[in-house]
Amino acid sequence: MGYRVVSIVRDHARERGAEPALTGGGRTVSYAGLDERSSRVAQALRAAGLGYGARVGYVGKNAPEYFEVLFGAAKIGAVVAPVNWRLTPAEIAAVVADAEAPVTVVDAGFAALAPDLPGQTVLTGDDYEKWLAGYPAEDPGFVGEPDDIVVQLSTSGTTGVPKGVQLSNVNFSVGERMAARWRLDATSVSLVPMPLFHIGGTGWALAGLYAGCRQVLVRDIDPAALVDLLERERVTNAFVVPAVLRSMCEVPGAAGRDHSALRAITYGASPITTDVLRRALETFRAPLFQLYGMTETTGAIVQLDPEDHDPDGPRGHLMRSAGRPYDWVEVRIADPVTGEERAPGEVGEVLVRSDQNTPGYRGRPQETARLLAGDGWLRTGDAGYLDPEGYLFLTDRIKDMIVTGAENVYPIEVEEVLASHPDIADVAVIGVPDERWGETVKAVVVRRPGSALTEEEVLEYARERLAGFKRPRSADFVDALPRNPSGKILKKDLRAPYWKGAGRAIG
Ligand code: ATP
Ligand code: MG
Repeated sequence: MGYRVVSIVRDHARERGAEPALTGGGRTVSYAGLDERSSRVAQALRAAGLGYGARVGYVGKNAPEYFEVLFGAAKIGAVVAPVNWRLTPAEIAAVVADAEAPVTVVDAGFAALAPDLPGQTVLTGDDYEKWLAGYPAEDPGFVGEPDDIVVQLSTSGTTGVPKGVQLSNVNFSVGERMAARWRLDATSVSLVPMPLFHIGGTGWALAGLYAGCRQVLVRDIDPAALVDLLERERVTNAFVVPAVLRSMCEVPGAAGRDHSALRAITYGASPITTDVLRRALETFRAPLFQLYGMTETTGAIVQLDPEDHDPDGPRGHLMRSAGRPYDWVEVRIADPVTGEERAPGEVGEVLVRSDQNTPGYRGRPQETARLLAGDGWLRTGDAGYLDPEGYLFLTDRIKDMIVTGAENVYPIEVEEVLASHPDIADVAVIGVPDERWGETVKAVVVRRPGSALTEEEVLEYARERLAGFKRPRSADFVDALPRNPSGKILKKDLRAPYWKGAGRAIG
């Protein structure tokens, strides 16, 4: 399909126009329909004065209209910038203003926001249909260059303010190869529950569109509804984050449902425990794929294949790995400060080089300069090591690492141990200030319903299983951990109350 995202819709409209492309909001759009409607959007945007490089805002839950706007923008060389609808109205207005989007398409469910957004707004539903009907379904025919930006996506905001990542035709072009690695083909039915304003939504759905299959777009993540959808829509492939996968396994009767259509469940975006993986294998009896990547790398760069998901086999330790880089991706491990290369087995910062690397953040030259290490390498901000076979083991985000005395503690390792306690439903490990050690390890624990687990029991459990410096010195109990829409634990929020006045950058 070459290097242009817009070719997806043009080529498939020609070759499989009548086939379904997107299901959502009670309707299904065919590839020909997507082509036609996106051409109308393109004409409407052009009439509104937009052209090459202009941005179009999109505020809404997962819906076919988002892709009509994405391809419509691409047909005139403009860029879609979807906004996280979970932000406050003032924040959404600020993001639209920052994107300098003259037109924003707003899901009718968020109509109350529209009057406060800068520029022209079009509400999905009647308003949007009238807008489309007013323009011809003629493709303006823009082709553009491989390096042209097509989508601006927001990072998850796990470690700080979400950043707008610019992604180009070339960046997304690997979607075609990824689709094959994820076992997506034209006969697939692909479930898209991740929000489209993040790479986990847009990247996954575009790969399915490259493959020419039908995407089932999910507006709200409800584990029981997802389990229903798998069966009802005869879903073949799904992408979920670990927190959602875990909840789906806990849906009563999930294991007894008809999963005969399922070809694979793909998961990623945050750490997962071996316990959840075991349960997922038992519940869905489908091959599992793990993906590791980030918005700045247009999603997945490393993948753990189904044959490496065998917890009781001789290579069971690979369940803790994120997998191996794709053939077209280079990964190396370097000292985060000196940049010196690390030997296999030694922990350092994960650096990556491939066509998937973003040209940069929009309007953030300093952060872009920090991100792009030169010579095509991108700094992920994640710590990890490569084993001699080239499997990547992530230890944690560099920002979440705990330095206690002279030792580095990677919270994920401690969390993995505590999560195996039968009374612990969820757990996060953070560093808290300590006069003697600088930082000490603290566990923040969610008990299983009905359990009376005590702090002493948590600490004792860790004492039996972890080296001295890694053990939590204290544990607090909470009802739920703060997570963002990508299912990631917001450790900066968890750390904040403990560090008030202590002078550590908690971001
Ligand atoms: P922000 O950059 O705004 O703080 P974020 O880094 O969470 O937010 P994303 O780009 O959505 O935003 O997420 C990328 C990060 O997610 C990676 O850098 C890594 O820390 C984490 N991640 C992704 N996949 C995995 C995985 N398979 N296992 C563990 N962590 C993962
Ligand atoms: Mg990040």
